[in-house]
Amino acid sequence: MVVGLTGGIGSGKTTVALLFEKLGVPLYNSDQRAKDLYKESQELKALMKLHFGSNIYHNNEINRSELAQIVFSDTSKLELLNSLVHPLLQKDFEDWYLKQNADYVIREAAILIESGADKLCDKIIVVVANEELRIKRVLERDGTTISEIRNRMNNQITDEERLKKSNFVIYNEGKSSLIEQVLEIHQQLILGKN
Ligand code: ATP
Repeated sequence: MVVGLTGGIGSGKTTVALLFEKLGVPLYNSDQRAKDLYKESQELKALMKLHFGSNIYHNNEINRSELAQIVFSDTSKLELLNSLVHPLLQKDFEDWYLKQNADYVIREAAILIESGADKLCDKIIVVVANEELRIKRVLERDGTTISEIRNRMNNQITDEERLKKSNFVIYNEGKSSLIEQVLEIHQQLILGKN
């Protein structure tokens, strides 16, 4: 069974995903794997150079800040990027999934729903936190700017839209215990109650 885990920037997806991993659940971190594929996949590298110019790579490393500047200021470029990355990421996920042996796996992705990957998941968990808190966390984590974070948010769907697709919701605003929420969902998934 594939359980998708998503949430807006800074909601705490990775924090929650690592708790599931601690419980022994195999974890596929889509955002990390996409970063790896820019380096490892000759096919993706060739496509990226073709569409974004060979200067998008410096010494075998993708220039992430330049790429972010291009795609987060032009929706059509973001769509192009996603159309290049997602088929390869999907294949990578499937290869990984075939090697797992567990009741369920977690597929973590920031844009799980936007990319359509939610349709390939059996269940969806959405992590939510209010915008102010998310901005504060990302500022502390990345040393970025508020306008860059807002730019990312504007390129993602809203929590309201995410919640429509969810089977489980995790509230990560420091009011209720994350571990308890994760344990409760884990039990339900294992017992097949939901
Ligand atoms: P992104 O979409 O940017 O990858 P994310 O949704 O994966 O973000 P995390 O990286 O898990 O979010 O969390 C953002 C930051 O907030 C991290 O530095 C994390 O340690 C911190 N954080 C998340 N949840 C909590 C919490 N409940 N209490 C304190 N800090 C938290």
